[in-house]
Amino acid sequence: MITTGQIIRCKAAVAWEAGKPLVMEEVEVAPPQKHEVRIKILFTSLCHTDVYFWEAKGQTPLFPRIFGHEAGGIVESVGEGMTDLAPGDHVLPIFTGECGDCRHCHSEESNMCDLLRINTERGGMIHDGESRFSIDGKPIYHFVGTSTFSEYTVVHSGQVAKINPEAPLDKVCIVSCGLSTGLGATLNVAKPKKGQSVAIFGLGAVGLAAAEGARMAGAGRIIGVDLNRKRFEEAKKFGVTEFVNPKDHDKPVQQVIAEMTDGGVDRSVECTGSVQAMIQAFECVHDGWGVAVLVGVPSKDDAFKTHPMNLLNERTLKGTFFGNYKPKTDIPGVVEQYMNKELEVEKFITHTVPFSEINKAFDYMLKGEGIRCIIAMGA
Ligand code: NAD
Ligand code: ZN
Repeated sequence: MITTGQIIRCKAAVAWEAGKPLVMEEVEVAPPQKHEVRIKILFTSLCHTDVYFWEAKGQTPLFPRIFGHEAGGIVESVGEGMTDLAPGDHVLPIFTGECGDCRHCHSEESNMCDLLRINTERGGMIHDGESRFSIDGKPIYHFVGTSTFSEYTVVHSGQVAKINPEAPLDKVCIVSCGLSTGLGATLNVAKPKKGQSVAIFGLGAVGLAAAEGARMAGAGRIIGVDLNRKRFEEAKKFGVTEFVNPKDHDKPVQQVIAEMTDGGVDRSVECTGSVQAMIQAFECVHDGWGVAVLVGVPSKDDAFKTHPMNLLNERTLKGTFFGNYKPKTDIPGVVEQYMNKELEVEKFITHTVPFSEINKAFDYMLKGEGIRCIIAMGA
């Protein structure tokens, strides 16, 4: 059946109201416009960011909306002026983009594209501000330009990474967000040398991906720091060999880690969002060469406070967005690392549900069960 240029009717999980279970609806998906592609989503997974905006406690609510941003699919059709993507391409839609033209895209060092950087407030497409989703003619808002909780979605081509068609989409779909964020924080920013020690603060999906990066880099010791001891069991699969629970100590965590490592770790990666943990992660690296990388998103009024002497003593503090990966240029390479068996993806996947049971994925995340739940669209 030829669908190019036609409206497609398909199933989508619509969030009608903040915090209320998603409802399976038949939606109309308009054809892609200039610089857009329409993608048949095959697998998607749930990330904290979806839950955070679905709960809509900290921001202006935008409903009805189709959430979802970690996914894999196949291009169904392309809009005008498309040269780099074609129907049949296997792709990962990504919540932040790469226009290829701005100063950030021209810089080797940045992935913070001016045009397509994540925008959680936008509910339509950049081209005309309109939504491509509707029910009975009424628009349903997009989320971060991806809206993957739908059998078909329309995405700006700058937010689409074309990947190896041999890569199993039910696995590599998770590469499009949380996994790459943590992995890149270690591999691209902290850059531990073989044999070095790495402390990971926060052992959620992002921290475990950072630990996976440390394992791939050949780190000698990977020390996990978390307030929740339940996280430690799971983290063992990720090569985390030593654990520190700040609640078990009367001394500051910095001191505990300094004592464990003869003066401090070589690298640390903070994946908690707690400003206390950010300060600890910085102050626990060794003077002379230690590098700390911040990944967690802090609260609005947080302030990072440390004595400048900690920097003068040759400690480096860095921060990163999406692991410094450029979505279109670099993400296909992360998929190749999985295909070459350097990167282990399977251990992140703890649950799978059919699309019709997508609300179960929310339950698992709200209960803190598992790491990633794959939602199989066709099942
Ligand atoms: P998560 O909630 O699953 O994991 C966070 C872990 O940190 C939890 O296990 C929690 O117990 C632990 N924790 C909280 N406070 C702590 C403290 N003071 N000391 C030690 N451990 C502490 O979250 P996640 O999905 O893994 O995401 C982690 C962070 O990364 C979040 O802040 C998220 O917003 C952020 N994030 C950043 C980017 C980026 O590009 N910079 C992208 C995605 C997510
Ligand atoms: Zn750009």
